[in-house]
Amino acid sequence: MSTSPPSAPARTAPSPPTAGWTADVAAALDRLQTPIWIFDIDRSRVVAANRAALATWRAESLEELAARDLGADMSTTVRERLRQYQADFERCETRFSEVWTLYPVGIPTTLRVVFSGHRLADGRMAMLCEALEVMHDTPERLRSAEALQHTAVMISLYDEAGAPLYRNPAARNAVARQGETFADRFVEARDRTDFLRRLAIDGQAEAVVRITGPAGVRWHEVAARACHDAVAGKAATLVSEIDVTGHKMAEDQIRFLAHHDLLTGLPNRALLQIEVGRRLAAAADAGERLALLFIDLDRFKTINDSLGHLHGDRLLVEVARRLMRSVRRDDFVARLGGDEFLICLRLGRAAKRAETVARRILGELDAPITLGGRRLAVSASIGICNFPDDGRDLDTLMRHADLAMYAAKDQGRGRALPFDAALNAEVAAQFELEASLLRAFERDEFELFYQPRVSVADGRIIGAEALLRWHHPTRGLILPGAFIPHAEKTGLIDRIGTEVIHEAALRQRAWADAGHDLTVSINLSARQFRDPRLKTTIAAIVTQTGCDPRRMQIEITESMLVGADATTAETLATLTALGFSIAIDDFGTGYSNLATIQNHPIDTLKIDRSFIATLETRPALAELIIGMCHLLGLRTIAEGVETEEQLSWLRVRNCHEYQGYLFSPAIPADAFDDLLELQRERLAAGGAEGFGEGRSPLWDLIPLVKRPDDVDWDRPEACPSKVRRLGLRSGFGQGIRPKER
Ligand code: C2E
Ligand code: MG
Ligand code: MG
Repeated sequence: MSTSPPSAPARTAPSPPTAGWTADVAAALDRLQTPIWIFDIDRSRVVAANRAALATWRAESLEELAARDLGADMSTTVRERLRQYQADFERCETRFSEVWTLYPVGIPTTLRVVFSGHRLADGRMAMLCEALEVMHDTPERLRSAEALQHTAVMISLYDEAGAPLYRNPAARNAVARQGETFADRFVEARDRTDFLRRLAIDGQAEAVVRITGPAGVRWHEVAARACHDAVAGKAATLVSEIDVTGHKMAEDQIRFLAHHDLLTGLPNRALLQIEVGRRLAAAADAGERLALLFIDLDRFKTINDSLGHLHGDRLLVEVARRLMRSVRRDDFVARLGGDEFLICLRLGRAAKRAETVARRILGELDAPITLGGRRLAVSASIGICNFPDDGRDLDTLMRHADLAMYAAKDQGRGRALPFDAALNAEVAAQFELEASLLRAFERDEFELFYQPRVSVADGRIIGAEALLRWHHPTRGLILPGAFIPHAEKTGLIDRIGTEVIHEAALRQRAWADAGHDLTVSINLSARQFRDPRLKTTIAAIVTQTGCDPRRMQIEITESMLVGADATTAETLATLTALGFSIAIDDFGTGYSNLATIQNHPIDTLKIDRSFIATLETRPALAELIIGMCHLLGLRTIAEGVETEEQLSWLRVRNCHEYQGYLFSPAIPADAFDDLLELQRERLAAGGAEGFGEGRSPLWDLIPLVKRPDDVDWDRPEACPSKVRRLGLRSGFGQGIRPKER
């Protein structure tokens, strides 16, 4: 047969064929010129053959031919095709005609064979083959005919009406039912119409479409072109198809991965851009309204940190499920990343639909989620923004929804807020601030002031806390509370913070060189402290400046130690190994957890000024903190000491140091230099005298500085801060004015 390899030499013959024909029929058939034989498909043997067939097969006898195992070297494609024919014969009375090349004893012989089903005596379906003519073709024709038989490409020829004229074996295997037309093959009506229209207009068409095959729907790359049927000479269509289902699925998978969030399976930001962009355009065309809901879980980070990322992930999956449950199928839900989600709603006629859905989401999230054996309540803040009222393009709408979400957080979380134009003004101010912060950094508008740290016991200045100031060109002196949070948000704090450490280190070195033994303390923001590069930065500064790390202190807050990870521990270990001491700032306002403090190399506690301010009415807490520090061997510093009563109270409790307006606010470095010089002079003149108990002898020498107010960024041009820039050396040169009381 076309594909059969050279037949194998006779091996041990199987049991003699049982199905042949009766002797008289055989005699009649033997007289025919046409080679006729019966092929047992299951056993790959010829089981009956007339004389002409024996000649074609170059066999001595039927026994010799029947002994040949024609399946021995048969290719799998041929084997499968034979099986297909067998199945076709079982299904219906049918006959096929094909050009086959047989290889009897290795000699190729090309025949046009007509074959049909033939039931054997034992009931199995075999194949009756008639060789109509021996083809003496050119090698090219032979080979191309062969190729057509073997190729996996499905090739079919259809007449003008779309009825099949020819199918190669691969195409035959791929039809859902006999006699189906070309048009029948398309699964999607739209694909069919498009394809046939293009074929009619251009005479050819190509597409990857869904096709109905015998085992269901597949993706085929279909190419068709108009041609003529070589037999009838009529117009026809030649179609080739390649099964690209595997490809297509891989491609779809890749596209899915690129457009979805792996954790929740929701569309990601990339798909959101495309999909919401499309919805906005469609809504604009149709004059419809949409809403965007920006959803951010409240305190997700805490949950994630305390329960671990695995549970954090589970929580996000559950939240995604609840969000999906709260909307309609044609709404769009995406995960933007982290704990942020975005929903695009069609508003239709229900004006308040966005608010209703937001309420439903908050309700859905209210039901506790059980994770790691704990029942957790989750809440979210939602910002709502409407198209087209609050913005016409995706960027603006997202920004506005985001703003509204932040406003919801500010108002206490767990709520939904619609966007409001006033929010925009706030943000514009914020942008302006961020831009001017960067400018300020580049123009060197920041300056470190130093607040004296004074020994409670003898009134001597024994340290200085570096506190940052911004000389704003129009607003005057600005205090850190008004800009550090913004610098944190934009990341500028990293650069400012490094500058602060560098500057303070240089100052320590300069004071040490001038013979002043002072500890200089530096405040670190949470973001700086979490940065794994911090330890390297600080080590480099120590080398560059030649400062003495044993006279340098790092102030952090308790909250930075909560949930401390490996980086925190490593940073603290490196800093203490370098010689730095660590102080906990604003102690008492945070978690006030002694266990946390004992787990880390902490040297000093700074009692928050709120406890000092309330000493008169509620001294218990300050008393407790000081007592506890003594027990644990920690140094104590009282912050914000403003009255002599407070100071004497601290002295009685053996608090080590204090800072506060009573002695001095933070002052510029050269003012501090002068103060140190005065202290030295006083000490030299009177020995330790005058530096014993009681108010510091330097007290009268502190320059006049009023207590500053915070800057209000929302006021277009706030009145310059009430703090006067100190007159630097001039003030000291002319003798220091007594402090106004
Ligand atoms: P802090 O580290 O607790 O600094 C003490 C704050 O209390 C300073 O405010 C200081 O001026 C103020 N203060 C001192 N004595 C008194 C007093 O007797 N009464 C009152 N009411 N206040 C007093 P300042 O300079 O506005 O700094 C505020 C906060 O900004 C600082 O709090 C610190 O957390 C942060 N900060 C300052 N400089 C830096 C810096 O360079 N980097 C970072 N990351 N944060 C800084
Ligand atoms: Mg501090
Ligand atoms: Mg403090």
